[in-house]
Amino acid sequence: MRVSVVGTGYVGLVSGACLADVGHACTCVDIDGAKVANINAGKPPIHEAGLEEILRRNLAVRLAATTDLRAAVHATELTLIAVGTPFDGAQIDLRYVRQAAHEIGVALKDKPGYHVVVVKSTVVPGTTDDVVLPILEQASGKRAGADFGVGMNPEFLTEGVAVRDFMRPDRIVLGGIDERTIDTLASLYEPFRGVPVIRTNNKTAEMIKYASNATLATLISFSNEIGNLCAALGEVDVADVLAGVHLAHYFTSVLEDGRRVEAPITSFLAAGCGYGGSCLPKDVKALSAYGMSRGEPMALLDAVTRINQAQPTRIVRLLRDRLKQLAGARISVLGLAFKPETDDVRESPALTIIRTLVEHGAVVKAYDPVAKQTARAALAEVEVRFVDDLNAALQDVDAVVLATRWEEFRRVPALLASSPDAPLLVDGRRLLEPRSYRRYAGIGRS
Ligand code: NAD
Repeated sequence: MRVSVVGTGYVGLVSGACLADVGHACTCVDIDGAKVANINAGKPPIHEAGLEEILRRNLAVRLAATTDLRAAVHATELTLIAVGTPFDGAQIDLRYVRQAAHEIGVALKDKPGYHVVVVKSTVVPGTTDDVVLPILEQASGKRAGADFGVGMNPEFLTEGVAVRDFMRPDRIVLGGIDERTIDTLASLYEPFRGVPVIRTNNKTAEMIKYASNATLATLISFSNEIGNLCAALGEVDVADVLAGVHLAHYFTSVLEDGRRVEAPITSFLAAGCGYGGSCLPKDVKALSAYGMSRGEPMALLDAVTRINQAQPTRIVRLLRDRLKQLAGARISVLGLAFKPETDDVRESPALTIIRTLVEHGAVVKAYDPVAKQTARAALAEVEVRFVDDLNAALQDVDAVVLATRWEEFRRVPALLASSPDAPLLVDGRRLLEPRSYRRYAGIGRS
């Protein structure tokens, strides 16, 4: 199938590259000419395991990038919209979706034949039918259902393992205004055999995506709230508590042969300094704002956001309590990305921690295996020294904060053991064994 993808961010580029890899002819479109040039040169503008190999394998064969949206739409049968949908402080900001829909509509005006336009961006229920569809009709002068189809296909990939997630999806949700749209969309996913497929309307598809993200965010904030109480109790460690909770059969299946298989969700549920990234924070807020606008205030989700926003301050408080004062304290923050295996620092709790520490007069060093450039750009106005390796990050400091679960950081206790200063180690992700280092302090324990 010939497919165009509008937006070459984490979702658009990974989708486009992977769809090419399974045999479709794919054109990726972006307004950012530098991104397009990098993609065409085989250099992914984002850090994702396996993406570079897929680009190299498919470029000039079945994959190309361009800034020419019109040509891309004309050369294809189906167009995915994968542009950003930020939260503007009050509600979801649909300006990029509207713009993309308008340009696609204009391109469809003189394109002969049937075309399908599919929203892949995360959008609040009703957006595809009530915002995108009318824009397409108006800009093209054509009729949805007769001249073109309009669908919604949410993306569930996780940054860091995006290629793996796209290639081995756990579910495929196909929304559409009619059977013809859904059938066309289904043929795009035909190579992904054996994966459960949900065929539904656009509004349900949109809601499935939000409910999925809200489930995860809620469980994370729940674990953090329990952790905060554990820390106040004394002699209770949230890691032991959650281990006990997660052994329940609804989290850990016991197989016929007695083996136990823990649900993957439990790996997200260590207490920590909060969730971040470009999805969970904005999606929970957008769903909540949407609920309010529909006369259904979402008290639980509002609390989920509040708890999450306060988690980084728990780390700062821990440091202040142990170091006595932050002004002049030399503190190293390990991990800047919002999760391991990515360079994405959007809404990363590490950045909030750094900003707060610097505001309190601390002298901050920062290290991340891959997110140095993105973090430097995000913290341009903040006085931080970025270092290139873990050893440099651990030298001459009063405290070390672990803010991202990078595997490399498991070495920290051993590296610190030989340090003459024995700095305080604050484990903001509960990655390490508390007994592994004598000046260990972890979130969720007294
Ligand atoms: P992103 O910000 O990384 O990328 C968006 C891209 O769209 C940018 O490269 C931008 O230049 C481009 N763009 C904007 N307007 C355009 C236009 N008119 N024409 C062409 N290109 C245009 O975004 P992302 O992280 O890939 O997220 C995209 C959508 O997918 C969002 O709705 C997000 O919520 C959703 N989503 C993201 C993830 C994730 O892990 N990042 C996972 C699932 C769903």
